[in-house]
Amino acid sequence: MNAIVDMSKPGIQLICAKDPIAKERLENGLCPFCGTSCNPGIFRDELSIKESRISGLCQSCQDEVFKEE
Ligand SMILES: [Zn+2]
Repeated sequence: MNAIVDMSKPGIQLICAKDPIAKERLENGLCPFCGTSCNPGIFRDELSIKESRISGLCQSCQDEVFKEE
C-alpha cells in the first residue's frame, strides 16, 4: 500500500466507489485520472504537492482540473 492520499476521505471514497481503476491507482500512489506516478519531482510547488495528498492528482491533471477559464 503506497497511497499518498487519505483513502478514508469521503471524496476519495466516492471516486473509488465509482471507479475501481481510480481506486487501484490511488492505492498505488498513482494519479487516479491518468495513472502517472505521483512522485514529488513532478510537482511544480508545495501547493501542488499538498493538493496531490488530498486528491491524488498529478501535476498535469491538477492543471486541467484547476485551470482558470
Ligand atoms: Zn494525472
